[in-house]
Amino acid sequence: MSQGTLLITGGAGYIGSHTVRHLLEQNERVVVLDNLVFGHRAALPLDRVTFIEGDMADAALVEKLFAEHKPEAVLHFAAFAYVGESVANPLKYYRNNLAAPLTLLETMQRHGCKRFILSSTCASYGDPVRIPIDESHPQAPVNPYGASKWMLERVLRDCDTAWGLKSVFLRYFNASGSHPSGEIGEDHNPETHLIPLVLQAAAGQREHITIFGTDYPTPDGTCIRDYIHVCDLASAHALALKFLREGGDTIAVNLGTGRGFSVKEVIATAEAVTGRKIPVVFGPRRAGDPSELVADPSRAMEILRWQAAHLEPREHIDSAWRWMNGAQRGHYAD
Ligand code: UDP
Repeated sequence: MSQGTLLITGGAGYIGSHTVRHLLEQNERVVVLDNLVFGHRAALPLDRVTFIEGDMADAALVEKLFAEHKPEAVLHFAAFAYVGESVANPLKYYRNNLAAPLTLLETMQRHGCKRFILSSTCASYGDPVRIPIDESHPQAPVNPYGASKWMLERVLRDCDTAWGLKSVFLRYFNASGSHPSGEIGEDHNPETHLIPLVLQAAAGQREHITIFGTDYPTPDGTCIRDYIHVCDLASAHALALKFLREGGDTIAVNLGTGRGFSVKEVIATAEAVTGRKIPVVFGPRRAGDPSELVADPSRAMEILRWQAAHLEPREHIDSAWRWMNGAQRGHYAD
């Protein structure tokens, strides 16, 4: 049921645009704020959303937006998310992922907007000390990207104490897949994620996929990850919003399936889905990659009544392959 207007920062990005679609299907009223640095205008149904091109750090713009649209809640996707780049250029990440949202939060406080849903990350846990990872697992991020999200969680808790801001920190595991329509999908530049890179290799758009490390302490020697379908992430946001509307308190919630798959398993599944042999090169480990990241998603089930609908990597890869072979061939025109 639709209530007030929702502000979606970064709504033209990968996870943001899938969530916008889902919220529109639920008859929500949506305003998207996106500077289009990584987002794509074409990822938005412009006839059904109010789109404002601009930056969340632009205090005058954000003030005008709040005065005009009076958002009831903010779903905050806008962030930089390249782990390697964050190590090389930490200030860029602290500026965009930590400092810029402060302007947004100050404006929310002035306008009495007290609901916030944060795109957080399993990278805020750092190297796992136990698997599966539940929300009480220590947070000891090992790179500035994870640290910027972890610090923002802290800021939001302090805002709760000070002025009653209620937040849900959605700690995503490995987002993957595309909308079943094939109309929107993952289009990062540069692309660093495993599944799109594997499919690009399958499509002949790149020569091979390099497996980063084959000597991990896992059954086949390659890293294990918990791949969560982007449409499942989208539905979790709607349920987090419902939770806050019903008076829910600030809480962190993992979003994963609870099932881990190795890099080799992902590649084998992609070969089965595409019917193509994927050229593989064995490379060294990538710095900062833990051997295994798998969520304990029970809190999301208990508190949000959320359950991942797409448990098999085959479904993720199949939808991503459809996006790559759809009208836009895996890339937006803008
Ligand atoms: N990976 C890989 N080759 C690539 C890209 C990724 O072997 O070209 C591995 C990476 O080491 C990790 C897994 O695939 O174990 C998922 O990586 P991705 O970058 O998709 O997500 P991350 O786990 O870093 O969030």
